[in-house]
Amino acid sequence: MLRNEQKQELKQLKDSSACIIIGGGISGLIIATLLQRRGMKVTVLDKGRGIGGRLATRRINYSEDIEGVFDYGAQYFSVKQPEFQVWVDDWLKQGVIREWCRGFGKVDGKSRYCGVKGTRSIAKYLAQDLEVHTSTRVVKLNYETQWLIETEENQQFRGDILVMTPPVPQSLDLLDNSQIDLATSIRTSLEQISYHRCIAVLALLEKPSSIPTPGGLALEDESLVWLASNSQKGISPNGYAITLHAYPHFSDTYWNYSDTEIAQKLLGAASSWINSPVIKYQVHRWRYSLPKTFYSKPYLALPELPLVMAGDAFVSPKIEGAVLSGIAAARYILQESI
Ligand SMILES: Cc1cc2nc3c(=O)[nH]c(=O)nc-3n(C[C@H](O)[C@H](O)[C@H](O)COP(=O)(O)OP(=O)(O)OC[C@H]3O[C@@H](n4cnc5c(N)ncnc54)[C@H](O)[C@@H]3O)c2cc1C
Repeated sequence: MLRNEQKQELKQLKDSSACIIIGGGISGLIIATLLQRRGMKVTVLDKGRGIGGRLATRRINYSEDIEGVFDYGAQYFSVKQPEFQVWVDDWLKQGVIREWCRGFGKVDGKSRYCGVKGTRSIAKYLAQDLEVHTSTRVVKLNYETQWLIETEENQQFRGDILVMTPPVPQSLDLLDNSQIDLATSIRTSLEQISYHRCIAVLALLEKPSSIPTPGGLALEDESLVWLASNSQKGISPNGYAITLHAYPHFSDTYWNYSDTEIAQKLLGAASSWINSPVIKYQVHRWRYSLPKTFYSKPYLALPELPLVMAGDAFVSPKIEGAVLSGIAAARYILQESI
C-alpha cells in the first residue's frame, strides 16, 4: 500500500510531470500509451535498432524475388484476462493482428493471435503516436530533484518519474552502475528473478517445409522446443521462412558455439520437417527469453524514489503478462483506475 505522502507526491507529479520509460517492449509501450492518454509527457528510450524488444520480426533477403520474414521472439499469444482483451480487440479492429489458429496439433477452440505483418507490428502500432528513441542505450541514472538519464550516445533526458522495463538483471546492472542502492529485501527479491536462454535459428528454405497446418509445432525434443513456418502463418509471402527455437538446456550448453555449429545441430534435429535445402540462415541468441521466476506483485515501486519497474517478470512469461504488468504500473503512477 502507498503511504499518503507518496500518493500526494505522485498526484502532484502526474499533472505536469514528464516520465522517462526505459524499454520499448510491449510493457513499456503500454505504460507510455496510458500515461500519454492522461496528459503526461512521456519519452521511451530503447537500445534496440527497432522497437518491440522480444516482439521481434526480421527480414532476410536472398534475391530480388526471395525474401523471408521471420518472427524470432514471441510467436503468438492468447488472452485470459478481460483487461488484455480490450487491447486485443483494438488491435484486431485496426488490422494489426489476426487469429492464427485455435490450437497447434490439438484444436482446443481458444484463439491464438499473431501480428498480420509479424509480432513487431504490434509494437510499431503502439509507438506511432509516442516519442520513442531507438538505438538509445541508457547507461547512467542520476536523481536529485529530477531524473537525469544519460545514454551511451551522450544524450541526456530529464524526467520526474522513471519507469524501467528491461529484463530485471539488466535493470539491476543499470541501478548498480548508477550507485542507486535498493533496500536489501527488494534487492533479494529482484535477484531471485532469472530467465531461460533461447537460441533461435531463422532459416530461409528453397521449398515449402512440411511443418503441419497451421504452421506451428510445439516440441519436446532434447534440442528443439518450437518450430514454425512464417509462410503458413502468413507473414512471409515471398520466401519459405521457418523459425526454430532451442530448448533451454540446449541453449545453455551451446551458447558459445559458433553459429555454424548451432545451425547444423538445430537444422539437423528439424530435418524431417524441413524437407528442403536451406538457402540462407541467421542465428539469434536471446539471453533473457522467458522469466523462470517472478516478482510477487505486478510492478515494483521504490519507496524512496519516483521509480517503477515493470515487465513480464512481474506477472507471467507472456505478452499478456507484460501487458498486465504495464497496466498495473501505469495505474499506480496515475493513482486511479484506468
Ligand atoms: C524466443 C521467445 C519466444 C517467446 N514466445 C512467446 C509466445 O509465443 N507467446 C507469448 O505470449 N510470449 C512469448 N515470449 C515472451 C514475450 O516476448 C515477452 O513476455 C514480452 O515480449 C516481454 O515484454 P517486456 O516489455 O516485458 O520486455 P522486453 O520485450 O524484453 O522489453 C524490454 C526492452 O528494454 C530494452 N532495454 C534493455 N536495456 C536497456 C537499456 N539499458 N537502455 C535502453 N533500452 C533497454 C530492450 O531493448 C527491450 O526492447 C517469447 C519470448 C522469446 C524471447
